[in-house]
Amino acid sequence: MDTKEALKIFTDTQALLHGHFELRSGLHSDQYFQCALVLQYPRIAEQLCAAVVAKMRAQLGAGGKVDAVISPALGGIPVGHEFGRALGVRAIFAEKEQGKLVLRRAFQVKPGERFVIGEDVITRGGRVQEVVDIVTARGGVVAAIGVLVDRSGGTAKFDAPVFSLVQMTPQTWTPAECPLCKQGSKAIHPGS
Ligand SMILES: [Zn+2]
Repeated sequence: MDTKEALKIFTDTQALLHGHFELRSGLHSDQYFQCALVLQYPRIAEQLCAAVVAKMRAQLGAGGKVDAVISPALGGIPVGHEFGRALGVRAIFAEKEQGKLVLRRAFQVKPGERFVIGEDVITRGGRVQEVVDIVTARGGVVAAIGVLVDRSGGTAKFDAPVFSLVQMTPQTWTPAECPLCKQGSKAIHPGS
């Protein structure tokens, strides 16, 4: 699956909207992406995630042995689950506790175990870095990071390679500079 096919699926499932939007940051954009809307279809989620795993396998080769997948809750969970299916390994997740991601439910990271981190969307990469820290603090190894959409414009960097299905950096403007506002249209708040 290439970027074009993935974007078509995002558009068909209305995960990717085109129009005039006010984002949570207050900035305006002509594009809005809500990954959960594509992941609500398990068979599509399976396909998209298998495509990321295929990229990962092609690059990591024989040295890319993976023991498990770990994801940040909530958005990363369905992605990690499908990565686990594609890789044939278990998938665990870290969840927020007092604003910080922690490993609960007796999920384990054993010393020397090799992990893939699964996430839906990377913007600045803070949540992924928290998961990297959880794995390495327990002696685990992060072999790769897989995401459906990298919105960082290449700025989110980690000690492990990042594999994404789509790189998509949204165009944003302050309301005063927004060309769509200048044309007289009104920004809407999607998904709230
Ligand atoms: Zn606007």
